Amino acid sequence: MSSASPGEGRAAVVIEDDLEIRNLVCAVLEQGGFQVSSAASGREGVEVVRDKVPTVVTLDIGLPDIDGYEVLRRLRSDSDCYVVVLSGRADEMDILTALQAGADDYVLKPFRPRELRARIDAMLRRPRRESAPPPPSAPTPAAKADKTPDTASLLRVGSLVIDGDARTATCSGIELQLTKTEFNLLHDLVRNNGAVRTKNELVRVARGKDYRGYNFVSRTDERAIEVHIANLRQKLAHGNDESTLIATVRGVGFRLMARSEDSR
Ligand code: CA
Repeated sequence: MSSASPGEGRAAVVIEDDLEIRNLVCAVLEQGGFQVSSAASGREGVEVVRDKVPTVVTLDIGLPDIDGYEVLRRLRSDSDCYVVVLSGRADEMDILTALQAGADDYVLKPFRPRELRARIDAMLRRPRRESAPPPPSAPTPAAKADKTPDTASLLRVGSLVIDGDARTATCSGIELQLTKTEFNLLHDLVRNNGAVRTKNELVRVARGKDYRGYNFVSRTDERAIEVHIANLRQKLAHGNDESTLIATVRGVGFRLMARSEDSR
């Protein structure tokens, strides 16, 4: 793993009322090269974020004045900083509410410092949640006449390479035989670079653009996603892909992890 500090020269704000956790999170971010400020209440946190214009905010949900969701709503009215929610509540609804209110990721307490650092590093590497998918690769007139695909449409995790234009997934050079839905789901998980994707979001991905505007997601739709993911895991295993893992986020959904994240 690279020892580069993704936070070098950037600001971060820690909003957390528990002094011990606040000090720990500040230390993790400082090690990551961030200029760290902190706040012990929600209102103060909103003020500090407006003042410092940070790249990253870590946000506790249980705060003494306004709760973390309200802080998120206030932040999202004028800031597109990356927000990672640090929640002690493993409740599915809390996590979903935070993601829907505009959080980019969440980490459950208690957490290991290196886990938090890894999640923040991954968050900084991926495009904003709202941003469009990577643009279609522009043909380069001077492109060499070899068979190397335009790298703009290629996504890599471990030995897995996804070509969004050709709609192919290869594992150590061997193409995986995926259905259209399986490809769409895998592409989405890779594109989100370790971020948790809710089953609800994945249902929309599986439906594709034909269903845009059709919003109802039933329990059966979500069960179907579980089946697709199980099939995908099998195909990845058959493709001898030992570098990646579709991890289950209990009660929420799935995310794609590089296995090295485990052992770091
Ligand atoms: Ca708290």
